[in-house]
Amino acid sequence: MTKVVIVKANSYDTQVVEQVMQDLLAHLGGIERYINAGERVLVKPNMLEAVDKASGVTTHPEVVRAVVRMVKSAGAIPVVGDSPGVGNLRKVAEKCGIWQVCQEEGVLLVSFNEIAELALPEGILLKKLNVANVVTEVDKVISLAKMKTHSFMGVTGAVKNLFGLFVGTDKAQFHLRMKHRTDFARMLVDLYRAIKPVLSIVDGITGMEGAGPRNGQVVRSGVLLAGSCGFSVDLVMADIMGFDAEQMPVAQAALAAGLSPALAAIDRVGSGKDEHLHFKEPRNFDSLERKLPGWLVDFSQNQFTAKPLIDRACIGCGRCAEHCPPKAIRIIQGKAVIDYRECIRCYCCQELCPADAVSLSDGRLLRLVKWLRER
Ligand code: SF4
Ligand code: SF4
Repeated sequence: MTKVVIVKANSYDTQVVEQVMQDLLAHLGGIERYINAGERVLVKPNMLEAVDKASGVTTHPEVVRAVVRMVKSAGAIPVVGDSPGVGNLRKVAEKCGIWQVCQEEGVLLVSFNEIAELALPEGILLKKLNVANVVTEVDKVISLAKMKTHSFMGVTGAVKNLFGLFVGTDKAQFHLRMKHRTDFARMLVDLYRAIKPVLSIVDGITGMEGAGPRNGQVVRSGVLLAGSCGFSVDLVMADIMGFDAEQMPVAQAALAAGLSPALAAIDRVGSGKDEHLHFKEPRNFDSLERKLPGWLVDFSQNQFTAKPLIDRACIGCGRCAEHCPPKAIRIIQGKAVIDYRECIRCYCCQELCPADAVSLSDGRLLRLVKWLRER
């Protein structure tokens, strides 16, 4: 039976987090079960963008520290790296505190610039992937995610965290190529299979609800999760958040491919095994779209999915225009303007807007269906 450990933790105090991390790993048989002496280990936190560690957007630096120390305790050599959605890695790491932890712990922070091709003949959608070449230079990878809602994927945890292994503009290309949640989720399942992280750990001491992964509200969720199967860790995480975990797109894709156990088949252990929280769903995330055939979603995408709206808080910074995969946004007279004929509803603009100026409005059919359901 696949095991997921959930341990309660209410503080980012260095000693507390280190103790909790040891507790997590003890439940999983100890770090030596996963990491051998002398191995190089990539620790991959969520470093979405340059924001304060208290924002709930990025993996907390003290959790990174605890994992780095744990890897060292096995006699291995940790390196920390990510490819942020916005901004350069050094700036992002400095702002969220991970740079300082790397300095204090004598650990290399690696930028993902070079690309390596990984073959995945058994992939559902992708038979080969171009990812940061650092994954070919290390022996093991640890996914060190943040517990958050996600406008497009419902939740983001250990599996979605690996999306940061795609370098630079490759991320936008995936949004363009995989416009539907189901395809995007299958791509993430392929990515997970190609990377095969040896451990998946989620920082849920604080999490994010609502308009995640960037503009939601911080929740004091008080848990850390870990396991050797990222799909299982994310299923349990989504369940603890109060969502229909098996209906999350990545869970659906992994279950359909026979790569994930059912939620009921996962053995939960640890002081937080009975935790049940009530995170607010992302505004546009509705299970209906996930139950429809792809052709119907394609035909009526704009009606079944929420539309991004730019409000008065827009400061015209241009970040959304720069990162919009189909280039559907222009800055006109200091404000972002969306061409909805081009918009693919990926919500990158909402995810990356520093002014929280992008809200989501349900399409007409979606509004009608929700109204019918409530009657
Ligand atoms: S919507 Fe947000 S990201 Fe886009 S220009 Fe306005 S403030 Fe910048
Ligand atoms: S306007 Fe926003 S939601 Fe639409 S394609 Fe661009 S980034 Fe994605």
